[in-house]
Amino acid sequence: MMELELIGGNPYVGLFESQLQTSIEWRKSTAEDRIDRLKRIRSWINKNQKEIREALWNDFRKPEVETDLSEIFPVTSEINHTIKNLKSWMKAKSISTPLSMLGTNSKIKFEPKGRALIISPWNYPFNLAVGPLVSALAAGCPVILKPSELTPHTSSLIERMISEIFPNHEVATILGGVETSQELLKLPFDHIFFTGSTQVGKIVMGNAAKNLISVTLELGGKSPAIVTENADITDTAKKLIYGKLLNSGQTCVAPDYALVHESIYERFLDELIIAIREMYDPNYKGIIESPDLARIVNDRHFERLEGLLKDAISKGAKLEFGGECNPHHRYVEPTLISGISEEMNISQEEIFGPIFPIIVYSDLEKAIYYINKKPKPLALYVFSQNKGEVNQVLEETSSGNAVVNDCVLHFLHPNLPFGGVNHSGIGKSHGYFGFLAFSNEKGVLHQRVGLNNATLLRPPYGVKTRQIIKSLIKWL
Ligand code: NAD
Repeated sequence: MMELELIGGNPYVGLFESQLQTSIEWRKSTAEDRIDRLKRIRSWINKNQKEIREALWNDFRKPEVETDLSEIFPVTSEINHTIKNLKSWMKAKSISTPLSMLGTNSKIKFEPKGRALIISPWNYPFNLAVGPLVSALAAGCPVILKPSELTPHTSSLIERMISEIFPNHEVATILGGVETSQELLKLPFDHIFFTGSTQVGKIVMGNAAKNLISVTLELGGKSPAIVTENADITDTAKKLIYGKLLNSGQTCVAPDYALVHESIYERFLDELIIAIREMYDPNYKGIIESPDLARIVNDRHFERLEGLLKDAISKGAKLEFGGECNPHHRYVEPTLISGISEEMNISQEEIFGPIFPIIVYSDLEKAIYYINKKPKPLALYVFSQNKGEVNQVLEETSSGNAVVNDCVLHFLHPNLPFGGVNHSGIGKSHGYFGFLAFSNEKGVLHQRVGLNNATLLRPPYGVKTRQIIKSLIKWL
């Protein structure tokens, strides 16, 4: 009854209600049941790889190789890893009994949270919709999935995939934009898994609070790279250019900007330019001709990037490389800028495109202070061959994840928790941590029948009870 009052008039109420029975039945689902669902997704993906590549190409000219590596592989690897480990993840965990609980025994049982809502972004539209779905199904949760409206080809393909594999009362896709999301957010789900911007993350959490729904928020922000004087300059430049230009910079964990020690600045800049040319213009035809550089997803984001660049230049930033913006192709040339200051918009907002500000620092303390003044990033990258420097950066900063002498790679590690902290996100995903996000860790205590330790604590509270409690406080 309560639910109906809360959600009256909502177009998705029928669908939502239809998943209630599933969520109750799936509490008893075995690892085999859940693995079977995952296998069906894997086999659909294997049969439809060409369609996935085409959809991504049509949405923003994503290169096939990048689709294979960053859309298909992370999902199939998530499925394979989950299939291999699900039985042990689901097993109730026995825990030790302290003296104060003598006579009892306890365990942690992982029960599915229940009906889950997954809202996903456009930048890795297949990976970031289906990846969380794998975790939800592993945990035993039915799902309503709302993919991004900005990548219509991929989102329609996801809808087709889901409808071919699952009935709506198990998993359903709802296509639509902001209004659709807002209607879905009114429903009293048991968990919401949102991937997107920090700004919309706040809206999602505000809505979830109305029904006290738990959330996983995978958000964005400005992920810094520190390049110290002890870094291998050539190696670092190649890795940063790859991480920055993958998906044309439209990656949540892309290095947003680099803080570079003054003693290596000039050489580092040269190496960055060499790396861009080697990767995206090996035959000197012009970077715009490279088939390996994705386009900006839509006109709004193209104009946003062009605006960031113009604003920075007009306020005194120096263009070190690139700078071409071609609206017909929604092409933004890989661009390096220096001399940026805090009043420029590029210093404040997540860049999310192929523009790379390089900031010079004179001592590591100052670089760390620069990072700590800003909201905690999703990822932090430190490039140095000096252990002391690396430890100093890791200990004196806070970020969702950190990588030493590389960037972006951690996303693909199945045993690492992935996610942000505060502004860059709440909760973790991937592998076991994704399974946990959709599970309620239910503590279950078994007591013996009849006389037991707890009976000694009952009223009337005499001298003996007081003595027992005193010793509990003193010794246990
Ligand atoms: P976005 O926040 O604009 O949109 C994400 C989803 O939210 C979409 O499905 C959209 O329809 C919905 N949405 C948009 N506005 C809404 C509103 N007012 N109310 C309810 N729902 C709304 O994000 P985006 O532009 O699709 O993706 C880019 C952002 O996502 C970047 O900030 C990036 O860093 C972040 N991101 C984070 C991760 C991660 O794993 N942490 C991964 C990819 C992208």
